[in-house]
Amino acid sequence: GTIYGYRLYRSRQWYNEMHDSDVTIGQKPRVVVLGTGWGAVPLLRHIDTSKYEVVVVSPRNYFLMTPLLPSVSVGTVEPRTVIEPIRSLLGPRIKFVESECINVDPQQKIITCSNDGSKENQETKPIATTSIFGREKLPSSPSIESEYEGGSSSRKIRDGARIRPKFDMKYDYLIVAVGSENNTFGIPGVEKHAHFLKEILDARRIRSAISDAFESAMIPSQTDEDKRRLLHFVIVGGGPTGVEFAAELADYIREDLKYYFPGLIKNYVKITIIEALDHVLSMMDKKISDYTEKHFHRENIEVMINTFVKGIKQKEVIVQVKDSKELQSIPCSIVVWATGIKARPLTNKLREIIGTDKQSNRMGLLTDKYLRVKGVNDGSIYAIGDCATIEQPKVLDRIQLLFEEIDTHKRGSLNLDEFKLFIENKVNEYPQLEIFQKDIEKAFYEADQTKSGSLTLQALRSIMEKADKKLRSLPATAQVATQEGRYVSDLLNYMARSTTSASFKPFSYTHFGSLAYVGGDAAVIDFSGSKPLLDIFSLKPISGRGSYYLWKSFYFTEQFTTRTKFLLAFDWVRARLFGRDISR
Ligand code: FAD
Ligand code: MG
Ligand code: MG
Ligand code: MG
Ligand code: MG
Repeated sequence: GTIYGYRLYRSRQWYNEMHDSDVTIGQKPRVVVLGTGWGAVPLLRHIDTSKYEVVVVSPRNYFLMTPLLPSVSVGTVEPRTVIEPIRSLLGPRIKFVESECINVDPQQKIITCSNDGSKENQETKPIATTSIFGREKLPSSPSIESEYEGGSSSRKIRDGARIRPKFDMKYDYLIVAVGSENNTFGIPGVEKHAHFLKEILDARRIRSAISDAFESAMIPSQTDEDKRRLLHFVIVGGGPTGVEFAAELADYIREDLKYYFPGLIKNYVKITIIEALDHVLSMMDKKISDYTEKHFHRENIEVMINTFVKGIKQKEVIVQVKDSKELQSIPCSIVVWATGIKARPLTNKLREIIGTDKQSNRMGLLTDKYLRVKGVNDGSIYAIGDCATIEQPKVLDRIQLLFEEIDTHKRGSLNLDEFKLFIENKVNEYPQLEIFQKDIEKAFYEADQTKSGSLTLQALRSIMEKADKKLRSLPATAQVATQEGRYVSDLLNYMARSTTSASFKPFSYTHFGSLAYVGGDAAVIDFSGSKPLLDIFSLKPISGRGSYYLWKSFYFTEQFTTRTKFLLAFDWVRARLFGRDISR
């Protein structure tokens, strides 16, 4: 891609591009992309704009580097470092419209956009009250809310002066990359009293709330009990986001706050992670969760496993430990909710428009192996990233047909050669058959429990059940979204040149490992499942925050622009030399 870093170069390049693109409008098929996140941006950077007119619609005019949000929430990294203006990222060859898609008509190929809901979209939760910090009686100081929302008065000016009407737009291809929402699982009080960590404003709010909690604890009349509650930080969810936030918070306390609030740190501060399963980072290798739990123990981060949150109130979290009937109250001030995601309203609406018989997955839009949305017959809608799931065909669904296809002699059973043929022929269509491929004979004799030398339909069915159980949909990660976005741009570019997509390879995902920062300058990486890297590095923790950032940038080379790398390096040096900014 082109780096729009150098200003002179940029303006010249852009000038030429502006003139090139404007004359051809209406002559090229129009690709409309919904979203400016991890799925959309790689697509937009690689799509051939000489072949397509490309329009992006998103309520967010910047790309957000989500993996660095936990660092932003404690001030290790500044907010502006992790966002990249979409216009400077893409240049003028692509049109950007700041708006939110609210409806799609797949028959007419028209989307409807509006700005009414976009405020909610940029902030994943309503404004937090300061009252949970026990400062109800104090006059509230200027907070980030007024700074960022413009307060109520300037908000009025903005709404009144700049009207954004609702509009319709035609598309030839629609790419849905709208991401996901936080899942509260309907647990009472989460929306109102917990912080999410998904958007930049969430991180700003948490940073402000931490400062607020410490300053509140310093108010002379606070009792010991108040101080203990105010400085108890609870994180719900032991996935990568929860773990990384806990780690960053522990670093922040040890490296900076300790000097300013020595008395408080020693006696009152506590960090707790609440996890419903029996260990944290359960999606990674067991060794990594063990390492993380031990490491957290040394860092004084308490991990409560097998514990379910039943509700969140202003000053407490109500939990229930597995197999116990009693509810327990945990007094605290700040709760960070990082338990999982769900589909956005637009995603669900589109599923309903297409028909929930074809779109039966409540997690998101089902697509085929080419990432085309199922149930849209002309193949004009694609879905990528968190809002999409690739349908994986089960062998069991068509076992009868598959069996008859191979059993050409109509004997009602398969011998070893036929079984081999079956695996070899079908492994492309059903990747789950890979588990038998290593040792086909062993699989055959294990399935042949009657030692008859052949497999009946029933015997085949029982081993295929095992294979189907191995099917896992791809995780909702930036790694997946990026590769899917890149794939769709390649596919569209290919289709512009040749008239058919018939010989284009289906999407396949390459896993580069998972990684999480666990604090105290240590990060853990899980390379299992990552063919290219497992051999070189195997499982081991790496150390140093620098190496951690390096790894992250290695992962996401393309999205880490030169600008981001510069800013990140500055932030890092600043935090090392002067400490983090502890003010609100
Ligand atoms: P997003 O990146 O969320 O983009 C969605 C876009 O759609 C946004 O621009 C949004 O404004 C826009 N949009 C929303 N609604 C509409 C609408 N109605 N119309 C038009 N546009 C709309 N993944 C990793 O692989 N590694 C990590 O280390 C990692 N760390 C993470 C840390 C945190 C704190 C979080 C929250 C996530 C992390 N992830 C990580 C996950 C990763 O961020 C997501 O999987 C990724 O963002 C998914 O990309 P996406 O394009 O589907 O959605
Ligand atoms: Mg996106
Ligand atoms: Mg994003
Ligand atoms: Mg999202
Ligand atoms: Mg997905």
